[in-house]
Amino acid sequence: MEQFFNYDDLKEVYDIVIIGGGPAGLTAGIYAARDNLDTLVIEKNFPGGQVGITEMVENYPGFPDGILGGDLSEKMFQHARKFGVQVKNGICSKIESDGKYKIVSFNDMQIKAKAVIMASGAKPLHLNVPGENKFLGRGISFCATCDGAFYKDKVVAVIGGGDSAVEEGHYLTKFAKKVYVVHRRDKLRAAKILQERAFANPKMEFVYNCVVKEVKGEQKIEAITLYNKVEDKEFDLTVDGVFVFIGWTADTEILKGIVEMDDSGFIKTDEHMATNIPGIFSAGDNRLKELRQIVTAVADGAIAAKSAEKYIEDNF
Ligand code: NAP
Repeated sequence: MEQFFNYDDLKEVYDIVIIGGGPAGLTAGIYAARDNLDTLVIEKNFPGGQVGITEMVENYPGFPDGILGGDLSEKMFQHARKFGVQVKNGICSKIESDGKYKIVSFNDMQIKAKAVIMASGAKPLHLNVPGENKFLGRGISFCATCDGAFYKDKVVAVIGGGDSAVEEGHYLTKFAKKVYVVHRRDKLRAAKILQERAFANPKMEFVYNCVVKEVKGEQKIEAITLYNKVEDKEFDLTVDGVFVFIGWTADTEILKGIVEMDDSGFIKTDEHMATNIPGIFSAGDNRLKELRQIVTAVADGAIAAKSAEKYIEDNF
């Protein structure tokens, strides 16, 4: 992992620079490097992206008993490294065109690339209610694997009704004595297998038709105020912590105004993962698409790398 923070071996020019070291970016790296392309992956946190903060991955083919998210991330990282991909920690701040090349600014450096693959993923949506900012990182969390252990024998609320809320809520019952799942509608959106497991868990309780109005507390979270839309009534739920899983928004600010996106910042591509700007490709959760899963991210990554390779062959 020390290579991840060591920049001595950086080159001035790469064939492909990939922004984001999650499943999409690392897979793009593996495919590019196996075709002998000089490839750099820039990752702002740790390799693996969201998978790295997922407790257990149960739907990635080849692992019938599931695989820990941290283990799968580490294997993908090592896989990319094995084929010579450089994976470096850094925050990418700008992507500009310079003739045929793209100039990628990250940390205090500028790197030239023949093609760029944007695989920066997505970031969690916030509730945007009073009290949320006050308790960010000290009671409000977006990651059960990171923060669940702080809630041993405590009561927590999970907000959301999708796969993340139900799966992470179930995981939190390892620690918490009670997990409320607060959902704004009267039925969950999560996959049926996850729902069935959650309904069978005696530590989980479902609070439907409710939205969070406020997170309350002096030094620490004491309660959340909920509004029941059907009964038109507000009430407080006493909790020690709140885990928010209400969806994701694309992490694509640096390409705003450069490539075409939808209103939420998801990048529009064709089936070759090409954006409207020649030489810039997009793969994974930051791309406008229907199904955001590890398998679709790795598929995007492979296609983006192959398309970038063809672009380089045709243009350099
Ligand atoms: P998601 O599927 O977008 O679900 C977000 C949930 O939050 C929905 O139930 C939504 O309610 C609710 N919500 C949205 N905005 C809200 C707000 N402002 N206040 C209250 N509730 C709000 O997000 P996700 O669960 O994070 O999943 C994201 C993607 O990752 C999905 O494609 C999912 O399948 C995938 N994923 C898969 C797995 C797995 O396969 N094991 C695990 C985790 C995630 P509505 O239902 O009313 O819209």
